[in-house]
Amino acid sequence: MDLTSFNDGAQYIAGRPTRSPGGEPFAVVNPANGATVQQVELATAADVDTAVAAARAALPEWSGATPGARSDTLNRLAGLLAEHAEDFARVETAQTGKPIKLSTEFDVPGTVDNTAFFAGAARNLEGKAAGEYSGDHTSYVRREAIGVIGSIAPWNYPLQMAAWKILPAIAAGNTIVLKPAEITPLTSLMFARACTAAGIPDGVVNVVTGAGRTAGEHLIGHPDVAMVSFTGSTAVGKRVAEIATATVKRTHLELGGKAPFVVFDDADLEAAVHGAVAASLINSGQDCTAATRAYVQRPLYDAFVAGVADLYEGIRLGDPLDPRTDMGPLVSFTHRDRVAGFVERARSYATVVTGGAATGKGHDGTDLALGAYHRPTLITGAAQDSEVVQGEIFGPVLVVLPFDSDEEGLRLANDTPYGLAASAWTRDIHRSLRATREIAAGCVWVNDHIPIISEMPHGGYKASGYGKDMSQYSLDEYTQVKHVMFDTTATARKDWHRTIFGDR
Ligand code: NAD
Repeated sequence: MDLTSFNDGAQYIAGRPTRSPGGEPFAVVNPANGATVQQVELATAADVDTAVAAARAALPEWSGATPGARSDTLNRLAGLLAEHAEDFARVETAQTGKPIKLSTEFDVPGTVDNTAFFAGAARNLEGKAAGEYSGDHTSYVRREAIGVIGSIAPWNYPLQMAAWKILPAIAAGNTIVLKPAEITPLTSLMFARACTAAGIPDGVVNVVTGAGRTAGEHLIGHPDVAMVSFTGSTAVGKRVAEIATATVKRTHLELGGKAPFVVFDDADLEAAVHGAVAASLINSGQDCTAATRAYVQRPLYDAFVAGVADLYEGIRLGDPLDPRTDMGPLVSFTHRDRVAGFVERARSYATVVTGGAATGKGHDGTDLALGAYHRPTLITGAAQDSEVVQGEIFGPVLVVLPFDSDEEGLRLANDTPYGLAASAWTRDIHRSLRATREIAAGCVWVNDHIPIISEMPHGGYKASGYGKDMSQYSLDEYTQVKHVMFDTTATARKDWHRTIFGDR
């Protein structure tokens, strides 16, 4: 089975790749060198209608399948994904520029593990125990599928985002139309093909490759879409919520982040420095949970800045397919210019300790000017209310600020509109407990920053959105709960009828 032939079309509808009849041509570009990876066409509103109709048609059979039957197909899917791991990693790296070692060791195995997790979770829908809560009735809950899910995903982890959207939705018996980011649709299309090969019925998983303003907005507003699940920026999330609200749809919003990295003065300095470098540069910093603001207690501040600067300078930029490459380009030239804009403007109000535009050669002789590269960039001396501290840069940029008291460090950590993830670095149990309690974020790590696991929820507080991905919590969000109540008295005149008939 070849999952990587995209020439039959960039829409995957009703179990088949299809070409959009009226779709505008669009080139998926490799940001490492500007070459076209694949020519596709963008979905029109009519393609979205066809995909939603296919999802709707598939709903009765799929939502009526036993959890065990759904679980079987997901187990087969996990096996197929693992079998095609190399293809997935290669295509993911080509369309995003991420280092092959990241695709191979994180994106693909993470997706296989998620699939295996949801194969198990599909058989574990939970609810309150049935019982006689009123004395005159037996009550129980049914946990039911919601319907057709309209999902929209970003470009930073295209395969994992497709998996996070598709798996809980279909494990719970829904059907789905996913719109990946138009610049990175290829591994979502491969994932949909693998679903069909695993025996998931036609129409359960559909992918439309289209632009946000057109295909995306049409999908969210579609009257036959029952729930909208979105991962992307906070600005677009607000627009998605507006459209979904107008048509009374359930929303699940995973939005931007600006994760703080709080280093207390008793922390293991070497661990904190290595942790900050890895957590700020993973996926070239294009990670919604990446460490972006390091707050370091005064006694460790100078050594921390020197340590990070030193390691940043040794990071190997180069061809993403070279297994020695630590950091590839950003996802596109447009995004690289946006990141560079933040850094250039910061020069007027802060200190750029190391980093900036990437010129010259990479570790392997790659001409960095030909790709969307940007060097790991360390900034100090920025005010808490400045753009680099408050705004989501979404690139390989870390800002370091000092703090004095524990109160101050925790207050600064909470002082942005976002609340997706954070970490606290300390050997003191009381400090770590306090930090995990007081930091307002959907995930707080202690003495680490980035790891995620299928069993635990991922999702935001504050402007980082609401709703959880992965874990049993996400499965619950793709279901609705029905209360079923049976009369147990077998009488015509129920006790509560007194509220109408009085004492007659
Ligand atoms: P984006 O918001 O620009 O785009 C996300 C998706 O929305 C894309 O598919 C895009 O085509 C679509 N879109 C754009 N405008 C739309 C509209 N008007 N209506 C409907 N859809 C529209 O985000 P991005 O630049 O692709 O991704 C980066 C962002 O995603 C960052 O803010 C990052 O923090 C966030 N993100 C969050 C999480 C999380 O779990 N919270 C995970 C990954 C990425």
